[in-house]
Formats: sequence, structure tokens, C-alpha cells
Amino acid sequence: MALDAATHSHAAKNTNRRLTKLLRDIRACRICEAHLSPRPVIHASATAKLCIVAQAPGIRVHETGISFSDPSGDRLREWMGVDRATFYDESRVAIIGVGFCFPGYDENGGDLPPRKECAEAWQDKLFATLPKFPLTLLVGVYAQTCHLGDAAKANVTETVRAWREFAPRTIPLPHPSWRNNAWLKKNPWFATELLPYLRKRVKSAIG
Ligand code: SF4
Repeated sequence: MALDAATHSHAAKNTNRRLTKLLRDIRACRICEAHLSPRPVIHASATAKLCIVAQAPGIRVHETGISFSDPSGDRLREWMGVDRATFYDESRVAIIGVGFCFPGYDENGGDLPPRKECAEAWQDKLFATLPKFPLTLLVGVYAQTCHLGDAAKANVTETVRAWREFAPRTIPLPHPSWRNNAWLKKNPWFATELLPYLRKRVKSAIG
């Protein structure tokens, strides 16, 4: 029993060390320097029990260095039933984009998609080093495509509608942006069926 505890503690220390180094490398990353102004934003720790995988920072997150520090974040917290203190408690919650830097704007003023180089360079390495999460939320199409692979459906609506296939460890969500207000209205099952389940799972994952 004592040996098990010692082995476990040794493994935890190793994970911690590898993760700290990897996070340092990510935060120093300049791969996309020719295309954007690098400022990688990532919140993670070796003890987190819940992982939120999102797309890439918007301008506000780029400026503050804090993920979901915007109205989308307020809505996501409300969906999850957590306050800001819990949401930003890195020891319990990891927040990881499939792109870590703000990718800039397209010609219509919308955010560009996350840079492909980012997921290629970091996602596998990162998730091989992070703890196994009892609960992962996949927020939006980029997170779903990247982490569900062939299991992702034709679009976000279909993937989120099929949430029972991925539960209990993974829950796909639409992006909480105001741009999805019409989607939320059109899909009332999201609020009546999925959100109560989401809140229950979040509570059991992080207390
Ligand atoms: S988006 Fe990712 S790969 Fe590109 S510079 Fe930022 S951290 Fe590096």
C-alpha cells in the first residue's frame, strides 16, 4: 500500500515536470510569427479534472491573456453552472484551444480559423502529457473535429445532438457566442436536455 502511494506520487511528480516544460515551450512558441502576433493562451495543470477544449482566442482574450474573458465566457459559465473563481481554478479546470494564439480577422471582420500548424505541433503532445480527464467539453466545430475525428458528425448541430454517444466523459457543445443565439432558439432540446446533464457532470467532475 505504502509502495503504491510512493509510486503514484513519483508518477504525479513526473507528469508535473513534463507538463511544466511543455507549457513553457508552448508559451514561447513562435511558429506562426509570419501570420499573427504570437501570444499563446492556455490554462492547464497536472491536477485538472475538467478540460474545456475551445477554438482559438479572440481579440479580447489575446489582449487579456485569459481564456473566455468575454460574454461568450459568461454564457459558457452559465451553461456549466460554475462561477468565475471555479472556472479559472487551474488546479481543477484546464482551458485549451486547438489554436493558442488569436489568428486575426478575415475580410468580413470575423475571426479566422485557428492556425492548423498549432494543432499539428501541440495537441497530441499536450494531451499525451495532460492527466486523463474525467470530463472534457468540446466547444465548437474545431474542437469537435480535432478531438472526435471520424466520430464527429456532419456539423456542430448533428454532433451536439448526438451528445449521448460521447457522454459521460466527453460532451460536445456549440460555441457560446452571441452569433449562436438563433441556433439556441432553434434547438430548445439543448437547454432542456443537455444543459441539466452538463451541470450534473461538471459538478461531479470538479465538485
Ligand atoms: S498559434 Fe500555436 S503554433 Fe502558432 S505561434 Fe501560437 S502557439 Fe505557436
